[in-house]
Amino acid sequence: MTLDELVEQLRADFPKLTLEKSEHNFYSPTKKTVFYTGDIARLLHEIGHGILDHTDFTQDIELIHIERDAWEKARELAPNYGFKISDTTIETALDDYRDWLHARSTCPKCGQTGIQSIEQLNYHCLNCDAKWTNNDARSCGLKRRVIKKSPHRI
Ligand SMILES: [Zn+2]
Ligand SMILES: [Zn+2]
Repeated sequence: MTLDELVEQLRADFPKLTLEKSEHNFYSPTKKTVFYTGDIARLLHEIGHGILDHTDFTQDIELIHIERDAWEKARELAPNYGFKISDTTIETALDDYRDWLHARSTCPKCGQTGIQSIEQLNYHCLNCDAKWTNNDARSCGLKRRVIKKSPHRI
């Protein structure tokens, strides 16, 4: 199955989701739109977010949970379209999210791991009392980019 055929089939199978070609792989919960680049594993992963009806998360730590769930859904879907998603693909993607999380939660002053406030979403270091914020949003792909305002991209 080619990418175009896969996209057509996914549109038929998931009529509530919109699929749109883009430079980045991500799912927009507000538009119920999957943006895809052509990477089939990631396309199915974004479809996974859509099927599971993931919305914007607030705390960084939630990212790992919803990413894992979307990957599991992608792995479940893949054989229906003649594809297979390997453990390595999933673990590599999740490692990347973990690295991102680690970078955001590391105290810029002393290097200890801080905790994120549920309300303000800033980080606080219990070791040296520093507080910091992260403005960069995360897209599903390997690309990391800074946008002015959240939401996070899943
Ligand atoms: Zn600190
Ligand atoms: Zn994702």
